[in-house]
Amino acid sequence: MKPVYFCRRCGEEISRTTEACPHCGYNPGSVAWRFGAGALIFGGALALVSPPVGLLGVFVGIVAVGGSYVLSPAE
Ligand SMILES: [Zn+2]
Repeated sequence: MKPVYFCRRCGEEISRTTEACPHCGYNPGSVAWRFGAGALIFGGALALVSPPVGLLGVFVGIVAVGGSYVLSPAE
């Protein structure tokens, strides 16, 4: 059974190795997504030490991930 992935935006089947969804152009590996995911993880950890700064990082991460999700090029 081959590994099958489904696009997070349009739900179509995509290859594991593909960079962007061939159906809608959504790119889960985009720079903004990676930055946002990093900010989320970093902010989450930092929130335990310094909540105001950590929550700001989490907020930035959500905006970046959400932005990459919304702004990824559509066909
Ligand atoms: Zn798609």
